[in-house]
Amino acid sequence: MKRSIGDQTIELVQGDITLQNVDAIVNAANSSLAGGGGVDGAIHRRGGPSIMQETDEMHSQGCPTGEAVISGAGKLPARYVIHAVGPIWDGGRRGEAELLAGAYRNSLQLAVEHGCRSVAFPALSTGAYGYPMDLAARTALATTIEFLQAHGEPALVRFVLFSDGAYGAFAAALEEAFKTED
Ligand code: ADP
Repeated sequence: MKRSIGDQTIELVQGDITLQNVDAIVNAANSSLAGGGGVDGAIHRRGGPSIMQETDEMHSQGCPTGEAVISGAGKLPARYVIHAVGPIWDGGRRGEAELLAGAYRNSLQLAVEHGCRSVAFPALSTGAYGYPMDLAARTALATTIEFLQAHGEPALVRFVLFSDGAYGAFAAALEEAFKTED
């Protein structure tokens, strides 16, 4: 599923983030950048040890929740990995939505600063961090649409959803977002 905003595209696909042939893929990192399961485990496994070496050297202090840092992508097809730290879901009244929006916004900002024309995101915070998928989808898409309208780049933002359920939630949220745009 695809939607356009001017010359820019938001695309939803079902698949594996590590296989995406885009300028930057986004990692669902934790604030110590220590590696983990889920997306993080898959990226470091497939990308090789240089990604962790680089984040250890450049970002030894880790990364606060709601923010992001960038590294090379080792053996992955992408040029960069953007390590974004989404919030742990805690009922929704502890600023989770704003922190999740920050993780997307700061990732997009880093991508643009590094000349990336295409960026692929997983559904940040929706695995081990427990963020409800439908709420996460709305925040992810609203933040992306707002960023694209404000900055006119990157040209392509692709959401790579792992499961049928995740794809369905993002598809419904994308349709809804464009309905309210009109
Ligand atoms: P978090 O700790 O931010 O919740 P996870 O990596 O546990 O991050 O999960 C984030 C989302 O990514 C979940 O919806 C999970 O199903 C999905 N996911 C797991 N592995 C992959 C992968 N290889 N590619 C894309 N999405 C993935």
